[in-house]
Amino acid sequence: MRKKFIAGNWKMNLDSSTAGALAKSLAAALKKDKLESYADVAVCPPSIYLTTVAAALAGSSIALGAQDVFYEKNGAFTGEISTEMLKDVGCRYVIIGHSERRHVIGESDQLINKKLCAALSAGLEPILCIGELLEERQASQTETVIERQLRQGLVDVKKEAMARLTIAYEPVWAIGTGKTATAQQAQDAHAFVRGILADIFDDGIARKTRIQYGGSVKPANAAELMGQKDVDGALVGGASLKVDDFVGIIKAGCDLEHK
Ligand code: PEP
Repeated sequence: MRKKFIAGNWKMNLDSSTAGALAKSLAAALKKDKLESYADVAVCPPSIYLTTVAAALAGSSIALGAQDVFYEKNGAFTGEISTEMLKDVGCRYVIIGHSERRHVIGESDQLINKKLCAALSAGLEPILCIGELLEERQASQTETVIERQLRQGLVDVKKEAMARLTIAYEPVWAIGTGKTATAQQAQDAHAFVRGILADIFDDGIARKTRIQYGGSVKPANAAELMGQKDVDGALVGGASLKVDDFVGIIKAGCDLEHK
């Protein structure tokens, strides 16, 4: 079984003192409950608070991730942040292609692919988000959409780099809405993703790649979702802002690891 990977996406929330305090409380809770070795855990604060959160996480097993990155290394790109800058402040992970960046900011599959390739070649571990809109699901286009996002997102990605890549299947209609995909819907989509990975790469890559589910994951539904054969963890938004909820989700992942 692949070890569960649970990442918190703090989005555009918190301030420097609450972000630092949340990171500290999470680290302490994981240590107290001896959860550290049973699941991989990361938090992705707003980039302006990465340094604060990195300091708060010092000595903990919780990894640091960013919510986005630009594909150029440096230069005249006002407002952007490079892979080198993320590494400089201690980031291991970076979320790329989150649905809010695709649908609110307007990022294309091509832009997402450039960011993904830049992150991989810089040695970061990207979390590539894919997922369909409600109208796409209702029009039975879920598989077409996630296949396109995967194939176009993974252009030029080498087999050897796939060990550092996580895919997050996040149906857009389930993000921040309180509507969760059923465990079966999540499992079906994840199995479909593995099939596409087998086609692009091979069966071994398809089997080994970690695929998180994201979309209103809460302590109450985490075990059922992550208990599905092809669900290797969770990308958590709202519930990652509350220590007890996020720890509850991590515990669910750790319990599955014991089974
Ligand atoms: C997310 O931000 O990726 C997410 C899944 O949010 P939420 O858990 O709040 O639905």
